[in-house]
Amino acid sequence: MLPSKTSIGIIGGGQLGKMLIEAGQPWNIHYTILEMDNAPAKDIANQHIVGSLQDAEKIKALALQSDVLTYEIEHINVEALLELEAQGHKIIPSPKILSIIQDKGLQKLFFKANNIPSSPFELVDNASEWAAKLPALNGHKVAAKLRKGGYDGKGVELVNKVDIEQHGKIPFEGAVVLEEFVENAIELSVIVARNEQGEICTFPTVEMAFDPKANLVDILFAPANISEAIDQSAKAIAQKCIECLNGVGIFAVEMFLSQDGQILVNEIAPRPHNSGHHTIEACYTSQYEQLNRILLGMPLGDTSLIQAAAMMNILGFESVNGPYELTGLEHILPMPGVFVHLYNKAETKPMRKMGHITIMGEDLEAVLDKLKTIKQYLGMRAAAQNA
Ligand code: ADP
Repeated sequence: MLPSKTSIGIIGGGQLGKMLIEAGQPWNIHYTILEMDNAPAKDIANQHIVGSLQDAEKIKALALQSDVLTYEIEHINVEALLELEAQGHKIIPSPKILSIIQDKGLQKLFFKANNIPSSPFELVDNASEWAAKLPALNGHKVAAKLRKGGYDGKGVELVNKVDIEQHGKIPFEGAVVLEEFVENAIELSVIVARNEQGEICTFPTVEMAFDPKANLVDILFAPANISEAIDQSAKAIAQKCIECLNGVGIFAVEMFLSQDGQILVNEIAPRPHNSGHHTIEACYTSQYEQLNRILLGMPLGDTSLIQAAAMMNILGFESVNGPYELTGLEHILPMPGVFVHLYNKAETKPMRKMGHITIMGEDLEAVLDKLKTIKQYLGMRAAAQNA
């Protein structure tokens, strides 16, 4: 039985929090966000605790007034959450999982301990250890990743071994994961949902196209253009990750499909994910609705794809900083099966995620045609100054 009103506390008030709240509008939910002043979700949350995501006191205040807590970003005070969980507060996903995921080194060790396929790696504590550890890794390049604090490709450097071995070009000083580089990989993502009752399901596999300059997802396609066998195995591996974590919540499992057909898990995000934005319109149940269901203790919804879809991020243009205007929407909004989402960010900067567009169609070809038109029209310029 559901109480007449459930109070959900969200640590973070970015676009993911905003879309979680939007998805909960048909239900009787009271949302409180914890976030600094300028949060995308601030105008639609019922309540806003203004503060840092590291502030233990503010997190505690949020917990005290919420039936259940969740988070929409990994870089939060996990110690505070562990303490609150030990005191009996309900936190989904468990902060025990977050403490593994916050540390890319622990995450890789978790994959290894559970026989989850992932690219071979070495852990280094500081720059002086690189030379000794590199020879164990195959290939000319390595992916070097700060164990803690990276996001959206920041904290990840793809480096040539020669540059390190012969020229001492080490991009990071601190504790780092060094990973074998997966050449020409196709990047896939499977979002897994699991509720407290142990019900588990996956969303359709998506294929991600990365913007190499920004090091983040630019466009993704659902369904992924892969064989049925690879699709099944990607879903099975993603599901295994969440079962081994005993996870409750929404989890995005990012994977590489190597040239020789191997699936290697890259990383897990314990929250709704950029690679699931399209599910708002393209699936019967979106990743956001699914998380609301899980937080309320309700059964999972149907995750089937209604139509083929693509999602493109609206990223801040290189040439624009500060207040901005989007241009070309008058050509884009009339297109059938096209949905524009804006994240309520007053100012842009290059490559900042400002919104996204979901494009649906009969098949991927039809979707690609619309995508080309959208790319042609969508523009951004500095906002006109008010006189
Ligand atoms: P973040 O957590 O910041 O998203 P990731 O670990 O996902 O960082 O790395 C960002 C991107 O760098 C990946 O999506 C992928 O394009 C590339 N990358 C990371 N690790 C590897 C790897 N081992 N082989 C090939 N490309 C990689």
